[in-house]
Amino acid sequence: MERTFLAIKPDGVQRGLVGEIIQRLEQKGFTLVGLKLLQVSKELASTHYGEHQAKPFFPGLVEFITSGPVVAMVWEGKGVIATARKMIGATNPLNSEPGTIRGDFGIDVGRNVIHGSDAPETAVKEISLWFGPEELVAWSSSLTPWIY
Ligand code: ADP
Ligand code: MG
Repeated sequence: MERTFLAIKPDGVQRGLVGEIIQRLEQKGFTLVGLKLLQVSKELASTHYGEHQAKPFFPGLVEFITSGPVVAMVWEGKGVIATARKMIGATNPLNSEPGTIRGDFGIDVGRNVIHGSDAPETAVKEISLWFGPEELVAWSSSLTPWIY
């Protein structure tokens, strides 16, 4: 089954959006298979956002991600990578559709509440960067036959 990496950024945690975000993904029918709250190191933040290293916003981004606790998650389900990105919305919350997480809860591109892997290769890379295999639980909810 497909898996993706999602992380509620420090702004989302500080604003008390953890429950709301988890609820949306649960209600959609996706399965939570990994979950932890952590204070992100500069090293992890820089590796995670390595593709943006040359961008002008990179130092501020790393500073922001390391500024407070982050909720790191792995979610599982059919089409979860692309669909979670849809549920998250466009990078700039001013362009995110209402009904998406960023569209409903954000204004500023530098405070856009949540991260989600953007493709299958990125998902694999990010899951192994943030989680050890022993931190992931393969399980099937009793609701599965009512979702699939
Ligand atoms: P996404 O998170 O939607 O995949 P990107 O990979 O393009 O977006 O960018 C990574 C993160 O960097 C964004 O979620 C956002 O927090 C930050 N970011 C992107 N563009 C800007 C910008 N122009 N100014 C400030 N921060 C930005
Ligand atoms: Mg990205």
